[in-house]
Amino acid sequence: MDILGSSSKSSLVTSITEEIKDREPPKKVHDPGGVWKCCHCRLEEHYDYKGNKPPFAKHLSFSEDCYIMKDPFSSLNRGEILILGGDCSICNRSVCLECSLFYAKRFCKACAFENSRYFPSEVQKKIHVLNKENKADE
Ligand SMILES: [Zn+2]
Ligand SMILES: [Zn+2]
Repeated sequence: MDILGSSSKSSLVTSITEEIKDREPPKKVHDPGGVWKCCHCRLEEHYDYKGNKPPFAKHLSFSEDCYIMKDPFSSLNRGEILILGGDCSICNRSVCLECSLFYAKRFCKACAFENSRYFPSEVQKKIHVLNKENKADE
């Protein structure tokens, strides 16, 4: 087996990285939507639409504005979507479904915890579960 000398190998790597650096990023054809990030778990995702009536899934409407992503695993015509999360109605920060709960409005777990006395007892239980799960990394 013919093995390249280390000097020629490293110059090959350098010329490839130079080439990539100079190349322009490919232009996107449609509106990229934006980047959505959960303020609690730092989940970051590209979203295609924010609102309660996604134009690519006309049969659906939601009682809140959510960040919606077209399901990359389904064909466009079927209009399948993924809901990433929404905005907390108290602090206005974006949160994923796992870090928030929906009770008439969306509440992030921190705001829900602070205001838990205003929620009915079965919702309070959920709030405590939500906040317990993340205690470990604080
Ligand atoms: Zn989250
Ligand atoms: Zn909040």
